[in-house]
Amino acid sequence: MRGKNTKFIADMMLGRLARWLRLYGYDTIYGVEEDSEILRISREENRIILTRDEDLAKRSKNTILIRSNKFEEQVRQLMELGFNFDDLFPENARCPKCNGLIRRISKEEIKDRVPKGVYEDYDEFYVCVQCGQVYWPGRQWREMVKIDRKLRNMRESNEME
Ligand SMILES: [Zn+2]
Repeated sequence: MRGKNTKFIADMMLGRLARWLRLYGYDTIYGVEEDSEILRISREENRIILTRDEDLAKRSKNTILIRSNKFEEQVRQLMELGFNFDDLFPENARCPKCNGLIRRISKEEIKDRVPKGVYEDYDEFYVCVQCGQVYWPGRQWREMVKIDRKLRNMRESNEME
């Protein structure tokens, strides 16, 4: 199993995959448009390039050519390569928006930063230390857990084949 100290840089075609890698705790850069920049960052920061572009893939050995357009298949490909997709917990996640680290924050600290209804309904809050985005285990998080389950089932049925 490959550890979560692996770092990625994903091309512009792979936004959804990049956000999910962050949620699973992988340090993942996304949003760099120029191939030459992607190659430079990969080299300097020892990041694996994730790309749908064969030409880009040929330009670096530290690359995974992502075969499918479909998000589920993309995750499956990385699972098959041995990357760890366990531990979908807020404490382990990185901010899906900016790749920053997320830490638990007390309810008092968050009071003026979330809608009143949310403040009343939830006791658990997290904040991105980089962009300040506040997270709580609401509808969005439940949706993600649902998708996570689907991905896990996919892997289990895959292992039985
Ligand atoms: Zn952030």
